[in-house]
Amino acid sequence: MQTYHNTVRGKQTEANEHQEICNPATGITLGLAPINSELDVDLAVDAARQAQKAWASTSDQERREAVARVAQVLEENSGYLAGLITQEQGKPLSGPGSRFEMQACVGWTQVPSALELPPEVVYEDDKRKDVLYRFPLGVVAAIAPWNWPLMIAIWQIIPAIRMGNTVVLKPSEYTPIATLEMVRLISQVLPPGVLNTVSGDGRIGAALTSHPDIDKIMFTGSESTGRRIVEASSQNLAPITLELGGNDAAIIMPGTETSAIVEDLFWGAFLNAGQTCACIKRLYVHENDYDSVVAALSDFACQVPIGDGMDESNLIGPLQNTMQHNKVKELIADARANGCDVIEFGDIPETGYFLPLTLVGNIRDGHRLVDEEQFGPALPIIRYRSLDEAIGSANRLSAALGASVWANSLEEAELVASKLEAGTVWINQHGAIHPMVPFGGNKASGYGVEFGIEGLKAVTQPRVISIKK
Ligand code: NDP
Repeated sequence: MQTYHNTVRGKQTEANEHQEICNPATGITLGLAPINSELDVDLAVDAARQAQKAWASTSDQERREAVARVAQVLEENSGYLAGLITQEQGKPLSGPGSRFEMQACVGWTQVPSALELPPEVVYEDDKRKDVLYRFPLGVVAAIAPWNWPLMIAIWQIIPAIRMGNTVVLKPSEYTPIATLEMVRLISQVLPPGVLNTVSGDGRIGAALTSHPDIDKIMFTGSESTGRRIVEASSQNLAPITLELGGNDAAIIMPGTETSAIVEDLFWGAFLNAGQTCACIKRLYVHENDYDSVVAALSDFACQVPIGDGMDESNLIGPLQNTMQHNKVKELIADARANGCDVIEFGDIPETGYFLPLTLVGNIRDGHRLVDEEQFGPALPIIRYRSLDEAIGSANRLSAALGASVWANSLEEAELVASKLEAGTVWINQHGAIHPMVPFGGNKASGYGVEFGIEGLKAVTQPRVISIKK
């Protein structure tokens, strides 16, 4: 059985303990991943600290070129890494799966490599001139989740490195292997110590985020862990970018042509078997259109093959882990016990953490499947009578990452969009993120934004030089 390793100071490290990582589709062991100790966290942070000054003193052009080399390595190894993602995380190779995740990794590396953040004259008159410079913060702790393990790690580490920070990344204990392999490959084109990893469970994440020598924390995961990280950061006063998932509402405006939107609506809800922070998790449909929307989604869902993602014909894989599998089953069981209509699609394999694609009708606000983030392939469809009622429903929860409005008229959709409380409101699409467009949550979905120029600013320290003329 293959043993995988962390990278610290550009070298592969040994750990005293390991855990078996199993393929969630088959139960077959993929390999052994290291479990680090708190001492290993100290060593990795020290490596990042020692490398940081030299890295920050490289020219902007040198760092742009280094990040461009990383993009090239990702591209060259995307087939290998996509195979590991599928066997470890579960999402299929095909469709919007692991190859798509690798394309995103390449894109989200190329774009920051091309972006610039030059000094900005923020004020000038005949007496003074004030120039805002952006310096690296120092050592960044990156804590990545298990749903899009490589893509989200790239979102965290690339802007940090691009701006002259060094990084210690901790992948989720559920999906460490593909990430450790990605870091092993890309650190070959970076100076030693610029990108380091530690692995293990939440204890290691806690040791990293509370470490006194950390200058910035990038976190994507659950709200409860996010709150723990905010508390832990009182140890180092590190600023945090927090992306805490959501419970995104989609509103279909009355009379919207269903056939034109059904495919995007389906993937907006079921991308990665629903295990995506910005998926549609509550669908609000006008009572007159309810039957036609349910019929169109049903017709689409019954044609989508579910199974082991290494089989090119499958488009939906398993849930990633037993905790998530049980959570989604429990929410569906609760809806069924409360008289909701549960409609299931797809033949699912007997082994693995599979669930059928599930539409849940005759359900209302207040049911657990509506109010709690399911993070799985079970979509509640809620009838509304007026747009004001639908907008009120969409805004009633504390989660506020994304939302969407689906309509024939863009003008009418924009009016509704302007009333929705979410970090991003999409129109006639959902979850359509882009490396140039800032992305982040409102309310309990977190704070700070990633991507584009704003994402680069988030990993810098602003400093002003103020000159008397
Ligand atoms: P967590 O928030 O626990 O995990 C996210 C990351 O945080 C993992 O790397 C985890 O490590 C790490 N972590 C755990 N505890 C700590 C800590 N005290 N300090 C620092 N880091 C820590 O998510 P879960 O895996 O428990 O998933 C629970 C729910 O969260 C899901 O059902 C889903 O609703 C939501 N979620 C949202 C995601 C998103 O994209 N926004 C992604 C994943 C989950 P480890 O895994 O090793 O414990």
